[in-house]
Parts: sequence; structure tokens; C-alpha cells
Amino acid sequence: MLNGVVDSLRSVWPVRCLLCQAWAGQGLCSACLLEHAPRPERPRCPGCGLRLALGVPRCAGCEREPPPHGLVQVAVDYGHPWDRVMMQFKFGGQVQWAQALALLMARSMAETAGLQPWRIVPVPLSCERLSRRGYNQAWDLARRLARRLGLQARADVLARAVDLPGQAEQDRSARLHRLRGVFQVPANARPWLAGQRVALVDDVLTTGATAAEAARTLLAAGAAEVQVWAFARTPPPADGPS
Ligand SMILES: [Zn+2]
Ligand SMILES: [Zn+2]
Repeated sequence: MLNGVVDSLRSVWPVRCLLCQAWAGQGLCSACLLEHAPRPERPRCPGCGLRLALGVPRCAGCEREPPPHGLVQVAVDYGHPWDRVMMQFKFGGQVQWAQALALLMARSMAETAGLQPWRIVPVPLSCERLSRRGYNQAWDLARRLARRLGLQARADVLARAVDLPGQAEQDRSARLHRLRGVFQVPANARPWLAGQRVALVDDVLTTGATAAEAARTLLAAGAAEVQVWAFARTPPPADGPS
């Protein structure tokens, strides 16, 4: 499977590398992959995706307060050049990034055993934000991942009732508190979730509070287990485990 994913990385966008513009015959050239998304990478905390020092099983934060979801899988750290890519992908309408980003995510998933069967659900935007932006970047990643990995995905399973402005300034516990109850699972989606292992897909994990609340909602609606699959994880300010 890993070979298949690597082959796919070579076959998308047979033009220029999306990052450095070198002629690459693929979405991202091998030099950019090596520099900005090297594999294998240093171990990450299974509960939040932060990088760990060698020999540490999980970070102090997850040790203190275990998240409601299972394993967090992350393709890269959020930083150069992915911060710029995310701005283009989320706010600049550059949805052509979705394929290359989803393939990088699939590559990191393929390194983990016991992948199937998962049902894939994107972290939703509120209706208001969705109509303003015109697309949900998490769904763009989720549906491509689902196709790549042969899994089922649905965008109507998790709904977001309201937008919460100013979340970036809040710490995790304040954010968790404010997020309580913002997600819902419509009654007609519950049979699809019941007893299933569900992968919740997002573009960037920052504090992990949104993913934790979404996971709690999916579990309360009948999912047996929820993993979190994100493209990037924001490192703590000091770039060390928190
Ligand atoms: Zn390149
Ligand atoms: Zn952690």
C-alpha cells in the first residue's frame, strides 16, 4: 500500500512542483518532500500529534487530561512552507492543493497498521462560513483521502451550529469550554456512525480543542472509536513537547 501511495505522489500534477516550481512530473518534487515532509519523522504524541522527545510515550498535557479521541495522525508540522500553503488552500481558493496534501496524509496513514475499516468525516464549517468561503477545505481533504484509501466519507454527518470568533487567542481549556455543544449529528446520520471506527479529518490542529469536541460529539452519537487525521500540527511556541 505504501508503494501505491508513493507512486501516486509521483503521478499527480504532471507539471511543476507546487512548492518550488521545479519541473517535477508530480505534485511535489522529491527535494521538497525530503525537506518539508521527511519520513520517517520523530515520534509524535498519540493523543495530540505534538512531537515527543525520544522514549516519552505521550506528552504531559495528554497524560494529565487524556483526549476523548484515539490516535492523532499528522503529516507535517505547521510551519514553513505549510503555513503559506494553508493560507492559499483555505483562504485563497487554491483548491488544487487538496490532492497533494491528501496524498501526503495518506502516506503517513499508510505507515500505521490496522487502518481499515474507517469511516471518514470532516470537521465541518458553519453554514455561514461555508457559504462565504464556498468550500470546506477539510472535506476536500477527507473525500480525496477516502478515495485513495478505499473508505466511505460523508460531509453531512457532523454539523456545526455556530461560529466562534476569536478562538485563536484562547488557550485550550477556555476554547474547549466555549466549544461545548457546537457540533451536532443529525438523526438520519446516526445509523451510518453506529458502532463504527471514525476518522475525523481536519487541515490544521492548533490546540486540538475543536477535534476533541467533535470527537466527543461523534462518540456520543454512537461511533465506537474516533481517530483524528490532520494535515498539520501547530507546534508549541518553544517547539518542544508541552
Ligand atoms: Zn519542489
Ligand atoms: Zn499529547
